[in-house]
Amino acid sequence: MKNKEIPYKIYLNEQEMPKQWYNVRADMKKKPAPLLNPGTLEPMTADDLYVVFCEELAHQELDDTTAYIDIPQEIQDFYRMYRPSPLVRAYCLEEKLKTPAKIYYKFEGNNTSGSHKLNSAIAQAYYAKKQGLIGVTTETGAGQWGTALSMACAYLDLDCDVYMVKVSYEQKPFRREVMRTYGTKVTPSPSTATEVGKKILAEHPNTTGSLGCAISEAVESAVSREGYRYVLGSVLNQVLLHQSIIGLEAKVALDKYGIVPDVIIGCAGGGSNLGGLISPFMGEKLRGEKDYQFIAVEPASCPSLTRGKYVYDFCDTGMVTPLAKMYTLGSGFIPSANHAGGLRYHGMSPVVSELFHQGLLEARSVEQTSVFEAAEQFARVEGILPAPESSHAIRVAIDEALRCKETGEEKTILFGLTGTGYFDMLAYEKYNNGEMGDYIPSDEDLQKGFDGLPDIPQNR
Ligand SMILES: *Cc1c(COP(=O)(O)O)cnc(C)c1O
Repeated sequence: MKNKEIPYKIYLNEQEMPKQWYNVRADMKKKPAPLLNPGTLEPMTADDLYVVFCEELAHQELDDTTAYIDIPQEIQDFYRMYRPSPLVRAYCLEEKLKTPAKIYYKFEGNNTSGSHKLNSAIAQAYYAKKQGLIGVTTETGAGQWGTALSMACAYLDLDCDVYMVKVSYEQKPFRREVMRTYGTKVTPSPSTATEVGKKILAEHPNTTGSLGCAISEAVESAVSREGYRYVLGSVLNQVLLHQSIIGLEAKVALDKYGIVPDVIIGCAGGGSNLGGLISPFMGEKLRGEKDYQFIAVEPASCPSLTRGKYVYDFCDTGMVTPLAKMYTLGSGFIPSANHAGGLRYHGMSPVVSELFHQGLLEARSVEQTSVFEAAEQFARVEGILPAPESSHAIRVAIDEALRCKETGEEKTILFGLTGTGYFDMLAYEKYNNGEMGDYIPSDEDLQKGFDGLPDIPQNR
């Protein structure tokens, strides 16, 4: 039995709450590659970005030098409704695993949207409102981002148009209805509401959709209407900036008790929760103050960091977005229908990609049955029913803790528990029925995605 001088949950008081976001790009000697205008192949300027994004968000997107950016008071006030999120010491899991490791997780599922995505949704909606816009458009896959944005838009009285990947629209009616309850218009994608949607449907009439394709529709729907802008729930620099609230709070909580993590683990879809969680710690590493081991965990069925290429690619299937240099499987890559666990995006945040490329961050891929096994183990001892996405991080945290059991090391492990899985019970049902399989794309499968990469000079 361990001595429990550290509380099960560490909260922050009002004074301790972060009042600024941290921009890790400021401390990166080699910056992430700039977004490119797909027409000219020149770096996107603020003017180029204004067409798609709100002005303030465009500035944040391009700002590689300001380390700390004030969180507007209105956003701080909104954060107070559901933050700080608890930093939990997983004593029960440690006991169950009989590991000498100390495990902590930062739990972002304590809000109705059920995930960390609300941290950026409120920021993006706030800047849109401040600019006097009518509304915003976006895509959603599993539905967490759309739900978060719906909550933020309802709060600020902004219009919200969500293009929802068709397979999720049909399989996840409950998330769809949460969004509609918050006043959002939800359209299954691909749809006939946009030109790009019609084109994709003509080429692939039976497609169940993909995130990349829904992005294309949402962008078109924003740029073709007055008073609307597009917002994105992950991948972009601005989103990582907003999500730094996760890491900043975690750091204050750990510092209060003099706890220094050895290993920091996050699941990686587009890279925003991982980037946000690790940012302040990565800043210390980049400035040579401390060292940490960082691990990004992705699904074996959508392995952008572990098997992708580090090249310029489109962020969407319809090839209407700027080009981003990132680890990518190709914007045409669509994960197997058998894949249940979220994290389906073909690319990865340029910040996370560059950190990985520089060897500052490791990546691991895990198979979905092992992810659900970890989810179940976690739920049974820690009480929280985790999102499948989050469970990728749980998997590797458990693996690391079990390794400590073998070596006797008393490592301190911190992982991001990004959300709850109440809306993912179809995936849990499959797992419980023993109907879930693993799917690992072959090199030939991946080659099809790589063949669709844009044919542009890559060394810039
Ligand atoms: C969206 C989501 C993720 C993955 O997105 P990132 O941008 O990689 O953080 C992970 N967990 C949950 C619960 C999500 O909703």
